[in-house]
Amino acid sequence: MTQGTNPFESLQSQIDDAAAYLDVEDDVIERLKHPERVLETNLTVEMDDGSLERFKAFRSQFNGDRGPYKGGIRYHPQVSRDEVKALSGWMTYKTATVDIPLGGGKGGIIIDPAEYSESELERITRAFAKELRPLIGEDRDVPAPDVNTGQREMNWIKDTYETLENTTEPGVITGKNLASGGSEGRVEATGRSTVIAAREAFDYLDKDLEGATVAVQGYGNAGWIAAKLIDEMGATVVAASDSSGGIYNPDGFDPVAAKNHKNETGSVVGYEESEEEITNEDVLTMDVDLLIPAALENAIDADLAEDVQADVISEAANGPLTPDADAVLEDKDVFVIPDILANAGGVTVSYFEWVQNRQRFYWSEERVNEELEDHIVDAFDSLVETIEEHDIANPRTATYVVAIQRVADSFEEAGSFP
Ligand code: GLU
Repeated sequence: MTQGTNPFESLQSQIDDAAAYLDVEDDVIERLKHPERVLETNLTVEMDDGSLERFKAFRSQFNGDRGPYKGGIRYHPQVSRDEVKALSGWMTYKTATVDIPLGGGKGGIIIDPAEYSESELERITRAFAKELRPLIGEDRDVPAPDVNTGQREMNWIKDTYETLENTTEPGVITGKNLASGGSEGRVEATGRSTVIAAREAFDYLDKDLEGATVAVQGYGNAGWIAAKLIDEMGATVVAASDSSGGIYNPDGFDPVAAKNHKNETGSVVGYEESEEEITNEDVLTMDVDLLIPAALENAIDADLAEDVQADVISEAANGPLTPDADAVLEDKDVFVIPDILANAGGVTVSYFEWVQNRQRFYWSEERVNEELEDHIVDAFDSLVETIEEHDIANPRTATYVVAIQRVADSFEEAGSFP
């Protein structure tokens, strides 16, 4: 992983690449390269032993031209101001790519949650929710889960917000569990869109998904669900990894059993169907038809990209390729379905959750999945149209062309205040 690549600079260069094809004024593009505002706050929280500990936390509201800011909150030691800014920008173009009426935001706390007890994490989360309270709301800014956060944290944030506001407003946050107003299908949604997008790409490239080999880097919520669903579509998952290492079986293995092994032992490593233990890097450079990077940003830099052998990459993670790596893969004719389309299922079903919360009327899982399928297929069709219309070789650039145009249209139609 390239610690040196600043994700915010990656975002800005991705926007510049697309701007070259757009008829949008430079000053509007400049607006679309920076967050509208960033909250930086220090949370001082009591630990179980009575001591106090300080945690730095951020919330970046990148763009609200198309609707309330929308995006997750991550807990990770590598969280930084620039990372949160980049992730909030990617959310802006993600919601525009799938054409849902939301903007982009992102938050994070610099923390390794594995080092804290559940009650400490609850106090830390509620302290952050108190800081976020004036900024968020179902019509202002709607957070969601991201790396190392899930239903538990979302439920705490919702409860803190509703208590302080003396109201009932489940749509203030998405990714809640069902009992707290969550949506069917939300947990699976990121992995689901990753494989729907891969299926569309294989179809576009006239490649057969049946029997195709797949490697998955990262076996968290997005990665393991993608592995399970692609296996159900007839592909063969041959390799997977997590932060402890990787597993490989040339004949494929059962992705659900591998996940059960991870649940029991903390890692996929040691899973009995694996024939060989491999490294994270081996997974990324394996000779497979489809590679799914599902961990953190900057997983593949230009050097590693030289060794990538997959024909198609579907980005379940946000920002897994550096811009240099993207250029190398473009030269090698690897079809990269960008994060802002491939993993957009998460925020799309968050949107459905928000709609259901506002209507107090809840959908079946079947309806959620059908609507999700429509949004991802439409986004992929727009990508193909743009590739063909502008003769763009890089699918990421084509996706940004569509997304930036949508955000710019909405800004230009509304004008600016003051
Ligand atoms: N954290 C997810 C993402 O990066 C989901 C965001 C959301 O549901 O708002 O897309």
